[in-house]
Amino acid sequence: MTVAVYPGTFDPLTNGHLDIAKRASKLFEKIIIGVYETPAKNLLFTTEKRVDLIKQSIAGSPKIEVESFSGLVVNFAKEVGAQTIVRGLRAGSDFEEEFEMALMNKKLSPDCELVCLMADLRYQFLSSSLLKEVANLGGNINDLVPKPVAVALKKKFNSAVK
Ligand code: ADP
Repeated sequence: MTVAVYPGTFDPLTNGHLDIAKRASKLFEKIIIGVYETPAKNLLFTTEKRVDLIKQSIAGSPKIEVESFSGLVVNFAKEVGAQTIVRGLRAGSDFEEEFEMALMNKKLSPDCELVCLMADLRYQFLSSSLLKEVANLGGNINDLVPKPVAVALKKKFNSAVK
C-alpha cells in the first residue's frame, strides 16, 4: 500500500492544508496527517484539539487519517509504514525551508521521499498564524477554514469573529 504522511503543526488546520491533503489522497492509497505535538512555536490549540478539528474536517475523506507524533518526522513515517512525506509549497518563503528539511530528512532516512504540492492559488497567502491574527481581531475567516475550525476560533476569541 502506498502511504504518505503529511506532517505539520496545524494550529489550526486551514483550507490550504485540507486542499493539500485531499489532492495528495489522489496520489496515494492513504494519507496520514501528522500533527506535531511540540513545535517550537506558541500554540493556540492543544494537540488533542488540533487532532480533533482535523478529524471533524476530514470526515467523508476515507483515505485521509490523522495522528499526533513527536520526534523526527522520518521516524513517524517509518512507524506508520509511509514511504513518502507530503508538504505544501506556497510562493516565496516555503521553498528554502522545505529544501533544507528535505536534505536533512534524506540524510536521516535515504529511502523516504518528499513530494511537494504547490498551494492552490486561493490559499497562497494563507497561514495559520495570519489566520489567528485576523480571527483575534474579529475578521471574517469563514472562507479560509473548515466549519469546525471556524467554530473553534470563534469560541477561542470570544465570538469576536463574524
Ligand atoms: P509547519 O510548522 O510544519 O510548517 P504548518 O501547519 O504551518 O506546519 O504547515 C504544514 C504544511 O502545510 C507545510 O508544508 C506548509 O508549507 C503547508 N501549508 C501551510 N499553509 C498552506 C497553504 N495555505 N496552502 C498549502 N500548503 C500550506
